[in-house]
Amino acid sequence: MKKRSLGSGDARTPVPDNRPPPMFIADHPGLDFLNSIGTPVDSVIEWIGNGEDLLAWLSEAKLIDPAEVASIRANSFPGELDEVAAQARALREWFRDFVRSHMGRPVTAKALNLLEPLNRVLERDEGYGAIVPRPGNHRKPTSASGFELRRLRRWSTPNAVLLPIAEALAHLVCSSDFTLVKACEGKICTLLFLDTTHGKARRWCSMTLCGNRAKQAAHRQRSAKKRNEVTKAKNSPQRHRAHKGKS
Ligand SMILES: [Zn+2]
Repeated sequence: MKKRSLGSGDARTPVPDNRPPPMFIADHPGLDFLNSIGTPVDSVIEWIGNGEDLLAWLSEAKLIDPAEVASIRANSFPGELDEVAAQARALREWFRDFVRSHMGRPVTAKALNLLEPLNRVLERDEGYGAIVPRPGNHRKPTSASGFELRRLRRWSTPNAVLLPIAEALAHLVCSSDFTLVKACEGKICTLLFLDTTHGKARRWCSMTLCGNRAKQAAHRQRSAKKRNEVTKAKNSPQRHRAHKGKS
């Protein structure tokens, strides 16, 4: 099938060696994909800077089997996977706009034409089914055979690696409640998540990152307010009068 370019995406970001591991905090792989660029501390980290990054991220996200990575590499010419990574970044930023303009309310059928670019990726799929032995560690329903029907995929072109991503995005649109898609309230944070908590009161990407920063900021604010009140009380005219009266 002829490749359809999604555009070159962001200019290729230089990949530092000291990046923290990618973050999977979104409770949905489609939103985890949007979080493959973020600011976990104070500088922007790009986890999909090139083709090898993309394969590593997909393996960590469990969207491809690490055993398939070698055959994906073998089917790619030099530089092709870097080009696919650029397409993945472009897909990511297009989908981020879609999510940010629809989150907090249900997605209706009116959005279908906006989702056309995602359908164009999904239609390239060369997926197929296969009956395979049921893994031993999966509990077998009493009436089930020792087999399961598994969806597999041919990796005949490098840009097939966009398919598991597109599927995750499509699942988010079709099967998740967009009223529960939220942005972290951290001041410089761009991370998104699906609030699956019982009380639907999640505010932070992570309590150890933005949650903790917000707690410390609130503490500093309270301490500063207290100090201000003490200074004001010390300098108040009543206090001076009271002191004078005593002497
Ligand atoms: Zn955050």
